Amino acid sequence: MFDVWRPALIFLFLTSLLSLFLWAVAGALPAAIVFGIMLTQRWLFHIRNLVALGHWLEDPESRPIPEGQGPWEHIFGRLNKMMRQHRKERAKRAAALHDMELATSALPEGVVSLDKTDHIEWCNPLAESHLGLDSARDIGQQITYLVRQPEFVEYLAEKNFADPLLLRGARKEDLVLSCRLVAYSGNKKLLVTRDITHFELVETMRRDFVANVSHELRTPLTVVNGFVETLQDMPNLDNDMARRALPMMGEQTLRMTHLVGDLLTLSKLEDRLNVLKEEEVDVPAMLTGCLEVGQVLSNGQHQLKLELLCKCKLRGCAEELRSAFGNLVTNAIRYTPMGGEVLIRWQLQDDGQPVFSVRDSGIGIAAQHIPRLTERFYRVDSSRSRETGGTGLGLAIVKHISNRHQAHLEISSEEGKGSTFSIVFPAKRHID
Ligand code: ADP
Repeated sequence: MFDVWRPALIFLFLTSLLSLFLWAVAGALPAAIVFGIMLTQRWLFHIRNLVALGHWLEDPESRPIPEGQGPWEHIFGRLNKMMRQHRKERAKRAAALHDMELATSALPEGVVSLDKTDHIEWCNPLAESHLGLDSARDIGQQITYLVRQPEFVEYLAEKNFADPLLLRGARKEDLVLSCRLVAYSGNKKLLVTRDITHFELVETMRRDFVANVSHELRTPLTVVNGFVETLQDMPNLDNDMARRALPMMGEQTLRMTHLVGDLLTLSKLEDRLNVLKEEEVDVPAMLTGCLEVGQVLSNGQHQLKLELLCKCKLRGCAEELRSAFGNLVTNAIRYTPMGGEVLIRWQLQDDGQPVFSVRDSGIGIAAQHIPRLTERFYRVDSSRSRETGGTGLGLAIVKHISNRHQAHLEISSEEGKGSTFSIVFPAKRHID
């Protein structure tokens, strides 16, 4: 540590010694004058340095630290060192703050910091987009002036930190947010928002799906159950009656079997652990098989044609491709009245993409239905679909299989004239 006393005492001692010496040789007056001059000069020296220090302290950030001599040189030197350290630490803190800002900006959740009276202190960009805030404009504003939904105002007032609030339509009509309050630093709060629109959508789809499956199964089960009860109630079972009932029961159980089969296929396709089996698929040979199956289904009522414009093969899963192609061929036959035409085609486009397509001259589909056809259980005409043994899941299966092969399903149709369903595969799946 710098010793202030020692130089001051040495100065006083030397000044006194000189004065005493002068007193002895020249008398008291000259000695007193020299003593006074030396003290004044020292006093002025300190005053000058104090003024310099005061001047610097008025604006230490932009003014340079004064240079001093004697003890002041040491003091200013120490101050200089302290300032350098302080600036370094401030830069470090600023960098840490910047990092924190970047980290909170990258958070997958919106965060708003509120003071004890619920005024916004700070918010990250995601919170701005969730709640429609603007950090440049809204800092310092009461949050309830900006997020006005009554359920939110109530939630904030209740200070319920245990359960999240489901907030709908905060900024956009269809946005669903999960909001949670977290207490920190005494009476401050963090409002954490999470966009759960997608989860809500999935949950709605799940509910719809269960409702649809139950509905699909209820009709055939009711029919079969009705027959079983009737037959049980007959004391002497009439052979004729039983012969008439059994085919109808068989038809309904077959319908349930198809439905359950399609449901299992869909769940297998959706299983993330079920990776696509990649093999070399001889599509022309497969389509020849599809044509034969189609002919059996059509029972000679349609004109079925197969056009193999290329002999190329495909890298993919044979079982899945057979199911997708078969579904489209079956649909073409089911939705084409007697005497109509169905053309199955396999070709290689100029851009190298292999395309499977089925064109029919059937009932066609009105434009507004086309975007929804691949939704599960979506049907344009439910009775026709059921009459022809449809489950409403065929195109959903085709879409899944296409996606698994990075292919896409294209549908073009004109009501009353016919439809074309095409699966366009990526060029990389083509094998010569
Ligand atoms: P479904 O078992 O009802 O046929 P899909 O998922 O295979 O179920 O098809 C969904 C709906 O798309 C059908 O109900 C039908 O209305 C329509 N559709 C499918 N293929 C054709 C087609 N080739 N011609 C006309 N409509 C079709």
